[in-house]
Amino acid sequence: MEVNRSDNATGLNETYGPLPQVAALREAHRCLFCYDAPCTHACPTHIDIPGFIKKISTDNLLGSAQTILESNLLGATCARVCPVQELCEGACVLGPSNKPISIGRLQRYAMDYVYERDIQVLHPEAPTGRRVAVIGSGPAGLSCAGELARRGHAVTVFEKRELPGGLSTYGIISLREPVEIALAEAKMIAQLGVTIETGRELGGDLSLAELQKSFEMVILSVGLGRSPQLGIPGEEHVLDGLEYVENSKVTSTPFEIGRQVVVIGAGNTAIDCATIARRLGAERVTIVYRRTDKEMTAYPHEYEFAKQEGIEFRFLAQPAEAVVEEGELTGLRCHQMELGAPDASGRPAAVPIEGGEFFIPADQIVKAIGQQKPAIASVLGLATEKGYIAVDYEFETSIPGVFAIGDCIRHRGEASTVMAVQDGKMAAQVLHARLMAAELSAREA
Ligand SMILES: Cc1cc2nc3c(=O)[nH]c(=O)nc-3n(C[C@H](O)[C@H](O)[C@H](O)COP(=O)(O)OP(=O)(O)OC[C@H]3O[C@@H](n4cnc5c(N)ncnc54)[C@H](O)[C@@H]3O)c2cc1C
Ligand code: SF4
Repeated sequence: MEVNRSDNATGLNETYGPLPQVAALREAHRCLFCYDAPCTHACPTHIDIPGFIKKISTDNLLGSAQTILESNLLGATCARVCPVQELCEGACVLGPSNKPISIGRLQRYAMDYVYERDIQVLHPEAPTGRRVAVIGSGPAGLSCAGELARRGHAVTVFEKRELPGGLSTYGIISLREPVEIALAEAKMIAQLGVTIETGRELGGDLSLAELQKSFEMVILSVGLGRSPQLGIPGEEHVLDGLEYVENSKVTSTPFEIGRQVVVIGAGNTAIDCATIARRLGAERVTIVYRRTDKEMTAYPHEYEFAKQEGIEFRFLAQPAEAVVEEGELTGLRCHQMELGAPDASGRPAAVPIEGGEFFIPADQIVKAIGQQKPAIASVLGLATEKGYIAVDYEFETSIPGVFAIGDCIRHRGEASTVMAVQDGKMAAQVLHARLMAAELSAREA
């Protein structure tokens, strides 16, 4: 597995630099080290936040990183990509009267210390001889694989892409997370004893039957698919938002940015695509959304950030056609919408206004309208819920011994990296208990 590939096809760098030592110590000393800390409760992986901050305050960065990793194996990614305003920092008791502690930046400070020095903080227990296959090396798969390896199980991760890391490597804008961070974490998981085989695809060169012969349990952490179809004329001239972000991070071919860019969608991915276009030189970037800013799924702080970047928003606009003249994309024709009664999603439906049409000039159109449901569900004949893989409370799918975690099961609530990491951790606990029970029965037999 190659883990030293350099980041940054386009020169986009992390928005925030590392905290200097003086600033980190000052920030750590501001923490009240609350008993039963609300920040820890608000973290989906329940990191002992006052615990790791206390260690930073005494300059024990190795101990601090260990505290973080005990709860969250992808602490360096989460330090960068978590919506901390909505989670730990949003719950910090200093928030309402003062400024919340910069928990994300302190976490990054401790994690960067160990990755910059290539320190392997955690070590596996004695081998159990039990074998588990994990499909997909995104945050859910790596977290689960690492937690199982720590308990001594022999884990192989099969990943269809060239590099491990899932969306942390390919999908999260470099302004938030450079590729190196995702790869350093995958390397740390590999050093726990996990074998990561890239270029291996379940449903391609691997079959479930084969895996079940060699492994006692199989975990699917396959994430979701590409952007769905818009279903409008001229769609073949519309770029996929996920590929757009990917090309800005890891492409080896030149990445072209339009002069006038229109991004369709109103979630965080749309804002990421618009930001990439803007930062890489587009003169005008417009986000087009069929409802209003009140129904947008992007986080409020992301919306504010986008406006500060000079990104324009065109609300109540439904794309109708990507207009192409003499083979050249010239713009997006849209229907003017208004809000009607709530639809099945509970949000007001966007209803076209008769005769209301307009045109937005564009030489590049990007769609960022979510991701397709996991295709592997139908390939394997798995039961689904709203298109996502259905699992019981122990993450087991409709096929016994096959489990699923991460975005591919997230039919409710917001999909996020930290939720995927927590799924991996919880599933590892379930699998460990089952593997140990099997070990006990084998010994007694
Ligand atoms: C553009 C974008 C930006 C985002 N930004 C943020 C953010 O800032 N903060 C945040 O918290 N969350 C963010 N998210 C969400 C977050 O990235 C996901 O919730 C998280 O990556 C889910 O992890 P996962 O392991 O379930 O899936 P993924 O990260 O999608 O990983 C799945 C892996 O499985 C592999 N795979 C798929 N099928 C197969 C197969 N058949 N065989 C072998 N391998 C397979 C894939 O190649 C991939 O590597 C973002 C998502 C997107 C799309
Ligand atoms: S809530 Fe704020 S002050 Fe209290 S422990 Fe957490 S970070 Fe420190």
